[in-house]
Amino acid sequence: MLPHDKLFIPGPVEVSAKTWAAFSRPMIGHRSEDFRALYRSIHPRLQTLFGTRQPVFLSTSSAWGVMEAAIRNLVSRRVLNCMCGAFSDKWLDVSRRCGKTAEPLQVDWGKHIGAQALDNKLATGDFDAVTLIHNETSTGVMNPLEEICTVAKKYPEVALIVDSVSSFSAVPIPMDELGIDVLLTGSQKALALPPGFSLFAVSEKGFARAKRQTDRGYYFDFLEFKKNQENDMTPSTPSIAHIHALASKLDDIFTEGLTNRYERHAKTNALVHDWVRRTGFDFFAEEGFRSKTLTCVRNSRGIDVAELVRDLRAKHHLVIDGGYGKIKGETFRLSNMGDETGDTISHLLASIDDSLP
Ligand SMILES: *Cc1c(COP(=O)(O)O)cnc(C)c1O
Repeated sequence: MLPHDKLFIPGPVEVSAKTWAAFSRPMIGHRSEDFRALYRSIHPRLQTLFGTRQPVFLSTSSAWGVMEAAIRNLVSRRVLNCMCGAFSDKWLDVSRRCGKTAEPLQVDWGKHIGAQALDNKLATGDFDAVTLIHNETSTGVMNPLEEICTVAKKYPEVALIVDSVSSFSAVPIPMDELGIDVLLTGSQKALALPPGFSLFAVSEKGFARAKRQTDRGYYFDFLEFKKNQENDMTPSTPSIAHIHALASKLDDIFTEGLTNRYERHAKTNALVHDWVRRTGFDFFAEEGFRSKTLTCVRNSRGIDVAELVRDLRAKHHLVIDGGYGKIKGETFRLSNMGDETGDTISHLLASIDDSLP
């Protein structure tokens, strides 16, 4: 690989040489038997990762494409957008721009979405869909998915749409068991693939909803994805390079083993947490709801975050994030997504120590 600055920002993350080699494989036709064999070969492993018996779809778009699609395909009456940070907050605006009636369930940045608050909202009977970001990447909050799903199950008329862009494959998310109606993820974060691609699955309830929606459009029509997947194909020409890279990544994931992968993320995350405590910084996310894939560090020492980011890059060729949106400079974020190990995270932390004032 070309010499480069290594990304520890919470997406895109570092892409391995092996993944890049797969990404640059010779092209094949998207209606060819080769393509169908490729999709067929990855599909069972995708279903395992999603924890679903439903088909898993490949979308040539970043995650926002599928996030918008979920609104267009599933919402007919009124959607409740659970909001706790930059990505989840934006979903309200996206819902409204899709012409839907949308309402926020907002908590302060750094806090989690509470199951009881959700229950109270859904009990009004006003909603037919809920959006939730499992791991809010801007604040480093991981929402209590099981509790939230347990509440959602009490309301069968409500469809549950879950974004797992920065948590997928790093922690278990058994879609069918949890009763999730749309589970989506992007390529460039937890999966450590190049950006520009996403994956999603839809429940039977989700498909039934889509059938009744008359304005779901074409490119992201869930029923088109379903019809094409039955023949191991995608509705339009996909980014075939991404699918080759995904196949390679699935080999990595299943060679490592899911349990080992989850444990590796827990371990590297704990290294960062120990470092935060040792260095006298604080966490932005409240205790008990901290992400396993990234850490949003509260700049309680009042350092010049931009200076740290610059120094780390110039001296060590490592890139961290200096805080997102309104918490830029008040926080910085360290990612342990993708292929990072105890060694690479320890190296990152030692380098930050060296660059700290
Ligand atoms: C990055 C991110 C997105 C948006 O992904 P794009 O690839 O920019 O569309 C959505 N949700 C979460 C939780 C993210 O971290």
